[in-house]
Amino acid sequence: MNNFDINKLVRENIAGLKPYSSARDEYQSNGSEMVFLDANENPFQTDVNRYPDPQQRTLKAELANLKAVKPEKLLLGNGSDEVLDLLFRAFCEPKKDNIITLPPTYGMYKVLANINDIENREVLLNQDFEPDVDEILSTADKKTKLIFLCSPNNPTGNSFDADRVRKLLQDFKGIVVIDEAYIDFSEKESWLKKMEEYPNLVVTQTLSKAYGMAGIRLGACYASEEIIRILNRIKPPYNVNELTQLRALKRVLDKDNVNLEVSDILNERDSLFKVLLEVKFVKKVYPSDANFILVKVDDANRRYEELLKEGIVIRNRTTQPLCENTLRFTVGTPEENKRLIASLKSIE
Ligand SMILES: *Cc1c(COP(=O)(O)O)cnc(C)c1O
Repeated sequence: MNNFDINKLVRENIAGLKPYSSARDEYQSNGSEMVFLDANENPFQTDVNRYPDPQQRTLKAELANLKAVKPEKLLLGNGSDEVLDLLFRAFCEPKKDNIITLPPTYGMYKVLANINDIENREVLLNQDFEPDVDEILSTADKKTKLIFLCSPNNPTGNSFDADRVRKLLQDFKGIVVIDEAYIDFSEKESWLKKMEEYPNLVVTQTLSKAYGMAGIRLGACYASEEIIRILNRIKPPYNVNELTQLRALKRVLDKDNVNLEVSDILNERDSLFKVLLEVKFVKKVYPSDANFILVKVDDANRRYEELLKEGIVIRNRTTQPLCENTLRFTVGTPEENKRLIASLKSIE
């Protein structure tokens, strides 16, 4: 991509911002025994009486190593939702700029646009749930700062065709955000590998799904050092708490077990897929690169209520565009999936 200039995209007030400098930013321990009287903390030990590292250096070093990127290209947040919000606040001027989203997709992009008072231009996916690249590019104008691609996409489960994504990265003049919340379940290559090629590429990932850590709230954003530097200026200083940093580090170091769980989930997904095809009221089962399956049924509202009565909570997606009468099933444990299957048979 030629002449992409991040300084032309960033909001004026953010470009000129003097960030808050925290006590822990101003003095970094060099490992020797220092007396810390700089942050008004309680000096007595509770394990968490000190402020956490605002740059999460230890955790970032491990994640960066795992993903084979420089730590300078990584920003961590309180879930990927915080990271996505930072992108709005850094690049989108309220009431002036706009973003493009591709329904049916993750609902949070639209909510964040509303919160930040940014116009959300929606370009529907095509019938195969692929981005309509020409339509997206003709919808974009000088004020379009961000395009959100969710791949594998929630709720449809498919990964977007690489040629389409590449064309958007090449031809769109703003930032292309690829939300890879489900990438660990997919055999497709992460777009992280293409970061050197595309200065306008931002990839977000999370520990909430494959890593089984939704409760600690940790999201990651990978991008050029320039973009990460801008996001770092506006993030709350201690946005990732100490307990989260410690638990996340432990889990990242235990990647082998994560991989085992992921492969169990994928096996379960594939058998659930086959069972769903046999259910009488199921009209279509969509292929999935993620840990959920989208299914078209005869009457989504009815089947949703029936499963609820059986004690099974799924997601009814029927009001989403292109998703009429669809239900989304998250893949559970083998026991949970057995219960689901039994319930599906009982309401047939
Ligand atoms: C679940 C999910 C996330 C995760 O958000 P966190 O704030 O990291 O828990 C992000 N994007 C999509 C598309 C998701 O489905």
